[in-house]
Amino acid sequence: MGNGHPIRVQTMTTTDTMDTLATVEQSIRCIEAGAELVRITAPSKKEAENLQNIKDELRRRGYDTPLVADIHFTPNAAEIAARIVEKVRVNPGNYVDKKKFEQIEYTDAEYAEEIERIRDRFTPLVKICKEHGTAMRIGTNHGSLSDRIMSRYGDTAMGMVESAMEFLRIARSEDYHNIVLSMKSSNPQVMVQAYRLLINHMMEEFGECYPLHLGVTEAGDGEDGRIKSAIGIGTLLEDGIGDTIRVSLTEDPEFEIPVCNDIVKRYSPPTPQRGDSNDSTDLKLPYSPFEYNRRETFEVSNIGAKHVPVVIADLSKYEKITPEDLQSIGYNYYAATDKWNIGDAAADYIFCNQPLDFDLPGTLKVLLYHPAWLSAGDKEKYVLLLDAPQYLDDTLTRSAHLNFVMIDYSWDEYGKQKGDELMARLKEDKTAVICFSTPNRNAMQNIRSMFVDLVNKGIKNPAIIICDSNHNSTDESLIHYSIEAGGLLLDGFCDGVCLGHHFGNKNIPPQTKLLNSIAFGILQATRTRISKTEYISCPSCGRTLFDLQETTAKIRAVTNHLKGVKIAIMGCIVNGPGEMADADFGYVGSGPGKITLYRGKEIVKRNVPSEVAVDELVNLLKENDAWVENKIAAV
Ligand code: SF4
Repeated sequence: MGNGHPIRVQTMTTTDTMDTLATVEQSIRCIEAGAELVRITAPSKKEAENLQNIKDELRRRGYDTPLVADIHFTPNAAEIAARIVEKVRVNPGNYVDKKKFEQIEYTDAEYAEEIERIRDRFTPLVKICKEHGTAMRIGTNHGSLSDRIMSRYGDTAMGMVESAMEFLRIARSEDYHNIVLSMKSSNPQVMVQAYRLLINHMMEEFGECYPLHLGVTEAGDGEDGRIKSAIGIGTLLEDGIGDTIRVSLTEDPEFEIPVCNDIVKRYSPPTPQRGDSNDSTDLKLPYSPFEYNRRETFEVSNIGAKHVPVVIADLSKYEKITPEDLQSIGYNYYAATDKWNIGDAAADYIFCNQPLDFDLPGTLKVLLYHPAWLSAGDKEKYVLLLDAPQYLDDTLTRSAHLNFVMIDYSWDEYGKQKGDELMARLKEDKTAVICFSTPNRNAMQNIRSMFVDLVNKGIKNPAIIICDSNHNSTDESLIHYSIEAGGLLLDGFCDGVCLGHHFGNKNIPPQTKLLNSIAFGILQATRTRISKTEYISCPSCGRTLFDLQETTAKIRAVTNHLKGVKIAIMGCIVNGPGEMADADFGYVGSGPGKITLYRGKEIVKRNVPSEVAVDELVNLLKENDAWVENKIAAV
């Protein structure tokens, strides 16, 4: 991997490593699905030793895919595994350091002593790897930074980088370079910043970069897990960062591979196509890619400034829109009472062709092109949408309050003079919201360069992005939207999103409900607009103490109306509490049939029998004022 090789796809088994046959068979399912590396947990010496049996059986059956041993806390197991498998993964947060959530003050001398202690414990593994030609991943996790790193750097991207750099310096001092690094977090924003910062530090200190393994940890399952993973991994791949990827889902590992493949195929072949160049050599970067700062904008209606990004639903493919059609974008109409129920994930605007023949619910507004807008009665509810030439045409009537102006990446085709005129007008126009779009394949970079241009020119109009998909499958479209919109949101650029459905197959009816759900999922994953419960669930592995998929589904069924609450569902107490990052509540396997419940990092109910653990979690949420009754279910 690295150095121009294709981006490698990998996953991790969830079976008990001592169950040789089950692990071999699951590995084969992953390999057949396309995994190019398979990782297997080795929590202690006996599992590390059993990797030999697993490897032998796989080779006997004709599979020579490289195997990776996953190590936490146990250098002894790592040293055994490094003699057997092709690669070992160590977590610098717990290879030598321990995690007790303690704040420790170190003098510089004491800190240096700790680094020497790591050198003594880690160097033997480096030497074994060097001797056996074994590769190594130095895999930092945001959730499991050691107390030592946390005490000095805090819970930061910088702490993650330094945690890996300490190990990397030791490996380099032994002239060992067969290394890949990762900076995973369940929060895509932290993850993206940490990888960028790591590259920056490697270049500054060594003048070279090691390959990078990308992943979002504890991403969860289903649509949300895919969105979170695609945003984190895809944003970096769009930057040209990343050599191998793993999508961590709380699903069987072979289901991770198609998601990886859908992500990776966007970058194959990597040769530029027409329209790919950005012509941005003289662009100054007016923002830091290492920290989140939202682009400064003024407010136009409910868009920009401190408002959360808005969602615009594209209903332009509907011949006629009825109140029932708005259900798919979060507005439920009850004809008997003539009342609307508005969900937390209700779109703010719809784009359609004609004024509607019924009263609009709540604050919902409608975008219309010029002739249709002129015919609409209520100019507060109906909003004008202009393309750039129309916006520059002074003979056209416009709204005194709110006008949407569409700018295609090719807007410079209007001529340099017109482009400058457009920008100059927008800058002074406190009614204008910009809508960016591009037909080019490298849309994210195109639109990012337009945002950069706005910042450099001091243009503070709010701007939303229009993201279209021509992909045939909904899975590919979901990944496409997540990468293109998510990457821009992570850099603080968007004040709203509109996802367009131009599926390759024209017979597919409008996927309005799905697109609305994806739009809100992207905003949630980038933490720019919270509209639902957040689940941080581990993918499970050989340490898992209960059926994670079934339990996650059970917990989701009773808590998925708790907007903004973060619930972690973790398979084991060894890594779970460390890995559950900034969850508000944790449900962690602590023994066979036993669950320990957490409030933040604090244990509140120990070893609860699993049959009543979900009820106890609900009680815990109630005791902590994190519970509300589910109104939708009640209706
Ligand atoms: S938290 Fe989950 S994936 Fe991580 S070691 Fe424990 S069971 Fe395995």
